[in-house]
Amino acid sequence: MEMARTFPGIFNKGRGKRRFSATNVIPAKKIKPLEVSFYLLPKQYDKTPSEKEKLIHMQAGLGPRTAHLDESTTYEELCDALKVIYPKLRSITGGWLLYKSAGGWGSRKLSLVSPDDTGYTGRLLKSAGRAGQNLFIVPIQEELSTSPLHLTDEAFSSMAKATCQKCGVAVPLQLLKDHINSCLVIDVDGDQPDMDGCHPAEIKL
Ligand SMILES: [Zn+2]
Repeated sequence: MEMARTFPGIFNKGRGKRRFSATNVIPAKKIKPLEVSFYLLPKQYDKTPSEKEKLIHMQAGLGPRTAHLDESTTYEELCDALKVIYPKLRSITGGWLLYKSAGGWGSRKLSLVSPDDTGYTGRLLKSAGRAGQNLFIVPIQEELSTSPLHLTDEAFSSMAKATCQKCGVAVPLQLLKDHINSCLVIDVDGDQPDMDGCHPAEIKL
């Protein structure tokens, strides 16, 4: 009130509007986005996969993916999100655990990220996934196939892609260089999935 008396012009001008500000005081649920880099391994590994293994994993719908979560993400929500970016995880019935790698370059040892009693939550992932490192998803009692998937497979649906100019198929950027080097097809309808992504019998021009 002292200030209002000193500067009546400033303080009185806004008074009519001030009445409404009370409704804005209640804070909305604060969303704290959390971006986590995952890497789905086909089975338990002692160390981080080699470059050659990474390519095999990516072609099989495994390997690195980014999940956009929230710090309040529950374990159930995490499982649902992971099943979208990794359709192969839907077949896992024997559970999976998260591992992280020690720092440094080259092949690094993997160590378990212990879940708490509610499983893996956004809060837990935030502290475990520091420094932009991958969190490795490891099936504990099963082994996932590492056979290459067709490029139109659902496993690649959420990935950024570019169209191969030879075969016309949208190729995930992570596989693009390798695909272009090995693609022999000129043009393809791409209806029939096959294992190598090539349809030599359907060449049209
Ligand atoms: Zn191609």
